[in-house]
This record gives sequence, structure tokens and C-alpha cells, in this order.
Amino acid sequence: MELILTSDQELNKYIQICIDNMTNWGYTLPKKIRFIVNKKPTGYLGQCVYDYKKLGYIAIKLNPAVISVGYETIMPTIYHEIIHAILPYGVHHGYRWRVIADRVSRLSGYDISRCTSHKEDVRQKYLSLYPYVLKCEKCGKLFGYARKSRIVQNAGRLCSDGTPYCWHATDKGNLIRIK
Ligand SMILES: [Zn+2]
Ligand SMILES: [Zn+2]
Repeated sequence: MELILTSDQELNKYIQICIDNMTNWGYTLPKKIRFIVNKKPTGYLGQCVYDYKKLGYIAIKLNPAVISVGYETIMPTIYHEIIHAILPYGVHHGYRWRVIADRVSRLSGYDISRCTSHKEDVRQKYLSLYPYVLKCEKCGKLFGYARKSRIVQNAGRLCSDGTPYCWHATDKGNLIRIK
């Protein structure tokens, strides 16, 4: 297994611990995994990108906002994404993912939860990094904006037919401005 680490040496130590543990617990990791820290904070804590054919590796992207909260907080996210990486594309958080997540939670002592995007400490960090923040009323997902764009200005407004002026495409939840 080939591992491409980040330029953050401290973070790399935690990644290596997770990788070593997963191997010791009997999981077969993909041939090549690359860990990347996104330049800008994102709405998710981590993301597994499966474009193996194009990239030649499975990419695990980490949100810099999570790391800045403290390295320990990123451990469950690293495990969460490695579990995606060892399963075929399309499994998402289905039965196979949950079985492994439950076992890894027991073995590691961390809570490897399905939904990792609304943890309070990360949410606070996220809020501090963007001047404008919108929140989906349905799922609570946060969206940060650097400028006072049209979406920011019209957040929370309803159109004449009662539908939100701007919504979260996934669940059609109304986006309200919280900052
Ligand atoms: Zn996931
Ligand atoms: Zn939503």
C-alpha cells in the first residue's frame, strides 16, 4: 500500500496511526491513498474521492477547519474516510459501511458516526472563517460565503409561490442567514 501524506507533519502522524490500526484490524487498504488538506474550509469534515482511473489513487480530502480545532478531533474523520476508501464506490453510509464503522468505533474508542458535518466545534470554526454564513433549515448544513453575493442578500426570502429564493439542492431546505 502506498500512502501520499500531507505537508503537515503533525497531521501525518495521526493519519499513519489510523492507517496502521486499520491494517492491524485486518482491513485491506487500496493500493494508493493520497491525503490532501483543502486550501479553503469546506462544508464537510472529510471527503473520499474515488477517481482512481483518472488520478491513480483514492484521494481523502480533509477540511482545514477541522484540523485547526485540534488534531484529536480529526481522528474520527480520518477513520470515517478510510472506511469509504476500502469499500467500493457507491456504498456510501449503507449497511457495509456501518458494520465496519461500528467495529472501528469499538476498537479505536472514537465515535465514527455517519454524519460528520455538523459537529459543534467545527461549526464554530467554520463560522469564524467566513464573513457570511447561511444554514439549511432542513439539515443544518452550513454554507460560507466570502462576499455579500446575491444569495447572501436574499437568504431566507420566499418567492411569491412560497418556495425559498435559494435552497439547499439536496433537500430543498430554505437557506437562512445566520451570520
Ligand atoms: Zn461519509
Ligand atoms: Zn439541507
